[in-house]
Amino acid sequence: MKHTSVKDLLNNTKTLQEVTAKGWVRTFRNNQFIALNDGSTLQNIQCVVDFENTPETTLKRITTGAAVCVTGTLQESQGKGQNVEIQVSKIEILGDSDAEKYPMQPKKHSLEFLRENAHLRVRTNAFSAIMRVRSTLAFAVHQYFQENGFFYVNTPIITGSDAEGAGEMFRVTALPFDNTPRTEDGKVNFKEDFFGKETNLTVSGQLEAETFAMGLGKVYTFGPTFRAENSNTSRHLAEFWMIEPEVAFNDLDANMDLAEDFIKYVIKYTVDKCGEDLKFLEGRLLEEEKAKPQAERSEMNLLEKLNFVMENNFKRVSYTEAIDILRDSTPNKKKKFNYLINEWGADLQSEHERFLVEKHFKCPVILFDYPAKIKAFYMRLNDNTEPGKETVRAMDILFPGIGEIVGGSQREERLDVLIEKMKAIGIEEEELWWYLDTRRFGTAVHSGFGLGFERLVLFVTGMGNIRDVIPFPRTPMNAEF
Ligand code: ATP
Ligand code: MG
Ligand code: MG
Ligand code: MG
Repeated sequence: MKHTSVKDLLNNTKTLQEVTAKGWVRTFRNNQFIALNDGSTLQNIQCVVDFENTPETTLKRITTGAAVCVTGTLQESQGKGQNVEIQVSKIEILGDSDAEKYPMQPKKHSLEFLRENAHLRVRTNAFSAIMRVRSTLAFAVHQYFQENGFFYVNTPIITGSDAEGAGEMFRVTALPFDNTPRTEDGKVNFKEDFFGKETNLTVSGQLEAETFAMGLGKVYTFGPTFRAENSNTSRHLAEFWMIEPEVAFNDLDANMDLAEDFIKYVIKYTVDKCGEDLKFLEGRLLEEEKAKPQAERSEMNLLEKLNFVMENNFKRVSYTEAIDILRDSTPNKKKKFNYLINEWGADLQSEHERFLVEKHFKCPVILFDYPAKIKAFYMRLNDNTEPGKETVRAMDILFPGIGEIVGGSQREERLDVLIEKMKAIGIEEEELWWYLDTRRFGTAVHSGFGLGFERLVLFVTGMGNIRDVIPFPRTPMNAEF
């Protein structure tokens, strides 16, 4: 039978019509009131069962977690917080659920518990709200680029290029059947893999995307990315989604403008579309905040934070300026950051990044012009830098509560400089001949960035752990699903 989503039913103002709804029972009170949820919206619809005329055997099967189909009259509701409810004339149990064993009891579960039940957690308010926000953000990503003349390209997931991910790559090998190349003692020969070459899962589509930008002009990728991260942090996954625009003829300033404009757009789009889910997540966070001592509580609630980001310019600060600030700062009453900051050239640790964003500037920060030594070979060397203090046209965007959300740069467009930098780190010209071709034939200034989609979802939902914003987190501890 044709049914209507709970979201559409709740928005319906035409009562006294026959409707059918399908979903999962959240609660069943007094043998009469079903709170039915189908995932279309945060709200449940109340279904009032005519228990006097419903067989006892059916009533017993209306349990938390059961899938049901109800038909009845949509009518105005007397209950508070809901305009309409369904006066049920017929109920069919589609799938039973043993309420004793059903893990998703109608109460607040810990996030750890939900992670252990990653396959069922989408039936909770919190996780379903996060997933709706995630889906909306993903749509906004495409919408932004498509409206602004970018083309969506798909870069290889299995790739022979390993220029970027030294030590962080997952090796891909053919299954040890039939024609797999083997060494004399019968072991799989990793050196001579499925493609006659070592192959890996991609850590970034950037190099390939650059070649497409140098032809299509403005492109973006949005796809899965893999890193064999050995750290177990709340910001890193082994499998995550990355958004990587790349634009011909854009320099670093244009790249920063693009990143800032893009982030503001997708947040605004999502705030407009997901107000109810975000309000719910905000409420959840407020409860957590209340449990903290006053001094540690966040100054803004979730929607205020999102509005702040949309309405204010990101602070643009060079690496050198940032180091000067850090050198003079005292992060807590006694300790200085001095162990690092005496040396210009050191990479910032996340505690430094968070200090700059959360304590010093109190807004998103774009750090640019990093020391060449700590950044990738393909970044454009700045002209006129002091010998020994060479910098590259790189930028990282740092967000409150998150740290790095974007890493990007203007790319080195000069063939000779690029080859020299590759040589210095042991990459042969032949290895990246195709990449170098973009510099051999019609090279031009171009730039781009990578934004970790889950870090964006973390920020927008206000969640604290990246494992809670992706359907099935891949981390060293979570490979079960
Ligand atoms: P980090 O310093 O946090 O390890 P990175 O500098 O190694 O990040 P980049 O190579 O600059 O990361 O990748 C671009 C973006 O991809 C990052 O700014 C971040 O948003 C995201 N990202 C990187 N690694 C991960 C990961 N393991 N899990 C989730 N997102 C990631
Ligand atoms: Mg990293
Ligand atoms: Mg980094
Ligand atoms: Mg980075």
